Amino acid sequence: MRPTDDAILAAVAAGFEDQVGFLQRLVAIPSQRGEEAGAQDLFARECRQRGYNTEIFPIDLDLIRHHPGFSPTTIPYDNVFNVVATHRPRRETGRSLILNGHMDVVPTGPAAMWTGSPYSGRREGDWVYGRGAGDMKAGIGANLAALDALRRLGLQPAATVHLQSVSEEECTGNGALACMARGFTAEAAIIPEPEDDRLVRANTGVLWFRVELSGVPVHVREAGSGANAIEATYRIIAALRRLEAAWNERKDDHPYFDTIDHPINLNIGKIEGGDWASSVPAWCAIDCRIAIFPGVSAADAAAEIEATIAAAAREDRFLANAPPTVTWNGFFAEGYVLEEGSEAEATLARAHLAAYRSPLQSFVSPSYLDGRVFVIYQGIPCLVYGPLSENVHGFDERVSLSSLQRVTGAIALFIADWCGVEPIEA
Ligand code: ZN
Repeated sequence: MRPTDDAILAAVAAGFEDQVGFLQRLVAIPSQRGEEAGAQDLFARECRQRGYNTEIFPIDLDLIRHHPGFSPTTIPYDNVFNVVATHRPRRETGRSLILNGHMDVVPTGPAAMWTGSPYSGRREGDWVYGRGAGDMKAGIGANLAALDALRRLGLQPAATVHLQSVSEEECTGNGALACMARGFTAEAAIIPEPEDDRLVRANTGVLWFRVELSGVPVHVREAGSGANAIEATYRIIAALRRLEAAWNERKDDHPYFDTIDHPINLNIGKIEGGDWASSVPAWCAIDCRIAIFPGVSAADAAAEIEATIAAAAREDRFLANAPPTVTWNGFFAEGYVLEEGSEAEATLARAHLAAYRSPLQSFVSPSYLDGRVFVIYQGIPCLVYGPLSENVHGFDERVSLSSLQRVTGAIALFIADWCGVEPIEA
């Protein structure tokens, strides 16, 4: 029999100190792209201790290379693993579920900008600090802790549950895609990204690309005859800004995005070029990120970006003779919309209300999410929903513990209702 909401929430509370300890240990293991293995090992060990059938496997490029959701990558996948831990019930009477999270974190930036070490996992008041605390090691721990709470009551889900911790979310989303290609699917998925206690209704896709320019190096006294690759790059950036404005003007065609002021953001994230202060720079390169609306294919958007750069180059005295090259070197991913009215969303709304005593709110996120792998390519509802965090991708990233406990409670209640429960012992 299903315990009361209060009994389940009390079981989450009883395990919360252990949950925070696990979060601090996870944060203390750096797991930037390409170095996720140590943190993945810790997660896999915890899953095995609980008796879940735990698979550790590399991202198999051959399985996903030709999938429309595949993104090219420049970072090799040696020593990069996904972990999927599976619970099987004695009797499959409920609905199956994937609890997903990503273990990779973004770079810390200069350590001097942080209060203490970026990987301290320091606990202070209601917060745990550190890179990845919010995005999204707290969420990975919440998935595990929600199941632990049921175990504390002598119960387990009455349906198959896959606990997934993927690598490679912050550059491409190929990690979640590789789990799908290996055959893992379910009737719903939850991803506790740091969404400030809200549900993601829709999000944009994201493209990454690099533009490279080259010119003829000359001494500055002959600058009139030399093409300055750095200055020419400004003109390409201006053309990309015009494209960004044109895409934003199309927002009225996209439900949920029409009310957002500036849903499509272009970021010139990195620039390098030139060799010497007194030489006209012969080369320059920029790394860029831009969003696309759901329903727009990555290939169509990429073609439009390439055409924009080619057109700008044709009209440019220097660039016409030395057209820039464009390389797709990361996210090549579409956005998605979580259709309203699914039973999974109704189940979460009920669970959220019980855990928070306030109604579930949804919002539109102008950034990439692995939810697209479930919604677009598996046709299942994916609930991206997670705790209050601050400064994710910034300095002094932190996650709120009171929020994390409530999110964990809502996930535990969701599991009890969606999967049903059965006694651990027959
Ligand atoms: Zn994230």
